[in-house]
Amino acid sequence: MVQESMLQQLLGRVRYWAFLATKLGLAFLGSGAMLGFINMFWLPVTPWFHLNRTQFCYDLGYSTLVMGWFLFSYGLFYLAVWDQKFRCRTCLRRLVMPVETGSWSRMLQLGRPKVEYICKYGHGRLNLEELQFPGKVQPEWTQQGDIWAELYAIHDADRDSERRR
Ligand SMILES: [Zn+2]
Repeated sequence: MVQESMLQQLLGRVRYWAFLATKLGLAFLGSGAMLGFINMFWLPVTPWFHLNRTQFCYDLGYSTLVMGWFLFSYGLFYLAVWDQKFRCRTCLRRLVMPVETGSWSRMLQLGRPKVEYICKYGHGRLNLEELQFPGKVQPEWTQQGDIWAELYAIHDADRDSERRR
C-alpha cells in the first residue's frame, strides 16, 4: 500500500473542509440574494441580508414569503452538509456504488447492517450504520491507498521479472 505523507494528508483535510466552507458560503450568498429579491417589492428599502422589520409580522404576503425563504435557506444549508458526508475525503468526488452489508438475523457472522460506499478511484470507503441506535452514529471512513498505483506497481514488477528471464 502506498503511504501518503503527513503533508499530503493535512492538505487533503484542509481541502475537504474548505470545500464545505465554500458550499456554506455559496448557500449564504444565495439565501441573502433571495431575501434581497423579496425585499425589492416592499418599502422601505432594506439593506442586503436584513429583514424588512416594518413589514415582517404586519404584512401577510411578506411574512409568508419570508417563511418560504427561511425554509429554502435551511434546505440549502442542509444540502451542503448532507452532500459533504458522501464525498471522498481525498479527491472530493461523490461516493458511489452503495452496497448493503451485514444482517440482523446473522449479526454474529456478518455484523450489523450497514451501507458501504466507495470512491471510484479507490481512495477509501464509507460505512453508514443502517439503524442509529445510540443517538447519531458518525459514518466510518476507511482510507485506502491508491489502488491504481498498486496495480501499476504489480504490473511493473511483472514486466521487470519477464525482462530478467
Ligand atoms: Zn477519491
